[in-house]
Amino acid sequence: MTTTARPHSKTRSPHRKARSPTGPDGFRALCERVQACFDCSSMNHVHILGDVNGSLDADVLFVAEAPGRLGAARTGIPMTSDVTGRRFHAFLAEAGLDRDRVFITNAILCNPLTAKGSNRRPTSREVAACGDFLAAQVGLVRAPIVVALGGVALEALRHVEQHEAVLARDVGCALPWAAGERERTLVPLYHPSIQSTLTRPHETQRDDWRRLGELVRGRIADAVPG
Ligand code: SF4
Repeated sequence: MTTTARPHSKTRSPHRKARSPTGPDGFRALCERVQACFDCSSMNHVHILGDVNGSLDADVLFVAEAPGRLGAARTGIPMTSDVTGRRFHAFLAEAGLDRDRVFITNAILCNPLTAKGSNRRPTSREVAACGDFLAAQVGLVRAPIVVALGGVALEALRHVEQHEAVLARDVGCALPWAAGERERTLVPLYHPSIQSTLTRPHETQRDDWRRLGELVRGRIADAVPG
């Protein structure tokens, strides 16, 4: 992977498109537009979006922060290889959720780097710049439950559809949220980085994920015709 820092494109943003196809064709078209985007500087332009993120028929759409230097930026697969990825999979297991039944993406799709090449938190400008891509994913992935993993993800989802959720107050709550022309449930959780345990202890996060699993199973049961 190469680290690229390019000036903003003078041409029309590849985000913008008047009408987009839906379903798998729409997703392929979206991935092509993402691959062509270099709007942000100080970024490893890894563009983590493709079939590796999950199925459009997923039960849950997870939105995290950004691909990590030692994680998705290295493997090309969200939530793999680094400590955050291992914690995410441990929490998925606690919740009784199968990775094959979830779609995992990030507030921004490239890896934000410091001048020294370390991971950094995405800026509000970068989150806004990637907002149309996130909105397109929310529109394409039919998951009834959307989980924001951390404050950056919650901020990013406001670019998709307004919500009033605050992470510290609403963590683990199931909040009604209409986005992507569907009625959804928005669940704020802490980001699975090890640093998040300084704010919310590991055991408490584990309980949050177990409740998420119960919520998902309840939704699936409700959706099955009786
Ligand atoms: S983070 Fe998003 S908006 Fe920024 S360059 Fe990557 S794909 Fe484009």
